[in-house]
Amino acid sequence: MNRLTQWVDGAATAPDPDAAVRDVLDPATGGAIGQVELADAQTVDRAVTSAHDAWRQWRTASLATRTRVLFSFRNLLLEHRDEIAGLITAENGKELSDAKAEITRGLDVVELACGIGSLLKGERSLSVSTGVDVSSVHQPLGVVGVISPFNFPAMVPLWFVPIAIACGNAVVLKPSEKVPAASMRMAELWQQAGLPDGALTVVNGEQEAVEALIDHDDVASISFVGSTPVARAVYARAAVRGKRVQALGGAKNHLVVLPDADVDLAADAAVSAAFGAAGQRCMAISVAVAVGEVGDRFVEAVAQRARSLRVGDGRRGNDLGPLITREHRDRVASLVEAGVAAGARAVVDGREVNPDGDPDGFWFGPTVLDHVEPAMSAYAEEIFGPVLCVVRAETAQQALDLVNASPYGNGAAVFTRDGSAAAAFERTVEAGMVGVNVPIPVPVAPYSFGGWKDSLFGDSRAYGAEGVRFFTRSKVVTSRWPTSHDAGLELGFPQAD
Ligand code: NAD
Repeated sequence: MNRLTQWVDGAATAPDPDAAVRDVLDPATGGAIGQVELADAQTVDRAVTSAHDAWRQWRTASLATRTRVLFSFRNLLLEHRDEIAGLITAENGKELSDAKAEITRGLDVVELACGIGSLLKGERSLSVSTGVDVSSVHQPLGVVGVISPFNFPAMVPLWFVPIAIACGNAVVLKPSEKVPAASMRMAELWQQAGLPDGALTVVNGEQEAVEALIDHDDVASISFVGSTPVARAVYARAAVRGKRVQALGGAKNHLVVLPDADVDLAADAAVSAAFGAAGQRCMAISVAVAVGEVGDRFVEAVAQRARSLRVGDGRRGNDLGPLITREHRDRVASLVEAGVAAGARAVVDGREVNPDGDPDGFWFGPTVLDHVEPAMSAYAEEIFGPVLCVVRAETAQQALDLVNASPYGNGAAVFTRDGSAAAAFERTVEAGMVGVNVPIPVPVAPYSFGGWKDSLFGDSRAYGAEGVRFFTRSKVVTSRWPTSHDAGLELGFPQAD
């Protein structure tokens, strides 16, 4: 069985007979396809020390050198996209074309980072005072930690690693222990692209490895993506140690369908965004709020489409793959059960699924729960499965109030033909990423990705200008070059003249 170790000093470490290990599962069969070693604090310390040594060199690499490495990595990633997509589908279960699409979205960030020469330009002002100039530059932080979730094994690491590397940092990446292969393969490609040994380290592990990374004195910052309870804990632990931290959490994204919306367009969007990747996307639509008389027509159109989706092995061209683990599948089922018991109507019920795949896979079919109420656990909790909750509202204002009362604020979308209604939604909705007739408004690379409220702890979002700012610290230099000794003693506080 394939055994994944750690990636340190530009190579996979030899198997460690004393290391703790866990099985890596194929969710479409329920069987183990490999094992991954789980780093303890000592292993993390060795990895960080190697990264810190590498950083001393990499921080001085010219922008031209860094750019060449990024371009090479970009080309290698493109060349190996299908192969990496295969690794993602084997461990995560998502449909192959979806796995390719996440790599393509990650490539967008690599391409942004290829322009690091422009992104890192500083500022300079002449004569801010007589004979005095000021400049500001952006320098790397040092060793930066990146911790990623199971649902985007390639894209989430690619939100951070290329920009951090381009800014002159060394990265220690801790991928999800459920999907380690894509990160290990991308580490090989970085090395092939010419990145010096140690400038990217991959540490496989679980909570112990994450905590050791946060606590390590030589780790300057933490970029985390995962569930809200862990994001909150990671933020608190890192902040108390004085680290720079961005911790992106879970979500409950609402799609509001106003009475004038094109019902077919809204139903297509809701079904694609709720059931793509079996609902295991942080930008999945998990709640549709149908306003007024559009409700019944919308639910009917959604149900018709949901029933047509094929559930099965992601390698066989199905629409939805399995859920990540048996426990997660059972949790999704119990939330659906609780919703039905509390009075929601299962218009489409994914508990009775007939998958195109191994009977031991972690299957759950598309589920549409109508007449969901905010007090139900199916509404309040992040289900992270192929379950669309439909809530009925009487007015657009009621729908907006509902969205804004959610503790999460990742994405929100409105479907309407009315420009002023859309503008009002856009201005007042409390979410970091908003779609107007767009169900999954993931920002393109030059903009930054991140939510509000319990969907992001910290003040920096991922990639774009905020990503560059996160991975650099600014230095302001005030200088003068007097032609003679013309200053004299002056003990007063300096003022411009
Ligand atoms: P998770 O929180 O269980 O794990 C995320 C990472 O944290 C993994 O690397 C894991 O090993 C580590 N981890 C788990 N428990 C830990 C603990 N107690 N202490 C320290 N580290 C710990 O999340 P997941 O199940 O892998 O991913 C799904 C979640 O991620 C969903 O809630 C989803 O909404 C969220 N997510 C958010 C975004 C976003 O951009 N906001 C993007 C993708 C996923």
